[in-house]
Amino acid sequence: MFQLIQCAANTYYLKCFSNIGMYDLGDGTCVLIDSGDHKKSVSDLNKAIESRGLRVRAVYNTHCHIDHITGNRFFRDTYGCEIYAPHIETFYIEENLLEPNYYYLGVPTNRKRNFFFRAVGTKCKELTPDVLPAGFSLLPLPGHCYNMVGIQTPDNVWFLGDAVVDKTTFDSYHLPLFYDINKSMDTLRMLETLEGACFVPSHTPATDNIAPLCRHNRKALLDNKAFILARSDNRTFEDIFAAVTHDFGIDLDMDKYAKLTFTVRIYLQALIEDGVLTASLEDGKLVYHRI
Ligand SMILES: [Zn+2]
Repeated sequence: MFQLIQCAANTYYLKCFSNIGMYDLGDGTCVLIDSGDHKKSVSDLNKAIESRGLRVRAVYNTHCHIDHITGNRFFRDTYGCEIYAPHIETFYIEENLLEPNYYYLGVPTNRKRNFFFRAVGTKCKELTPDVLPAGFSLLPLPGHCYNMVGIQTPDNVWFLGDAVVDKTTFDSYHLPLFYDINKSMDTLRMLETLEGACFVPSHTPATDNIAPLCRHNRKALLDNKAFILARSDNRTFEDIFAAVTHDFGIDLDMDKYAKLTFTVRIYLQALIEDGVLTASLEDGKLVYHRI
């Protein structure tokens, strides 16, 4: 069973694959930050909530990814609570076809059992500072997803979504998902100086010092940029992708292919923004050249 861990007076998180925040408002209700990746984590969190005699007043999603929203429908149906998310994220949470469509550049393969359809689309409202209980605040964390936000509880605990990832994620996946590499670098730089009593990233345990992990992530992004740039001169996208995944030793399947082609394109775009790479169409093929 996943455990609910207290990280400050009224702030808790369920330690699981995608950590879920819980803040006890002290009036018999609580609010959640994200809603988990799997039925098991949703069920374990709900047992912990019930054992405390609490009701869920609202769920605040940091962003739209499937592993952060899977329990939305359950908590809404069980408690009649509202679901909130940052503006652009609301569209992706309400319509579960959109997220796989942008990875697969169209209708996904194995449509009936595709991972991305595990969460049922759920109506949600826009997450803005005025809908939060007193003492909470939002912090834009661009880079990992369109509109991701961090959420600060009145105990000065920061829930950071996927702005910072575990070292082992880079070691094992090599290319974790980002939507904008250079914005992520800026966000990581900002987080290094963020003050707080405790920081809760989604896929690694809470810590009172987030700066070392931010520095690690920035270096890992820079290393990945250099790795991809070294394989990008006078090559088509498909050739670059094949070289990068081969040299990282990544075993591809259709789902990995979809997510990693998305991610490699994001790195290539960042390198173009950096002024070290350019792209052109040649005989119907997208070809990259170092500058
Ligand atoms: Zn994410």
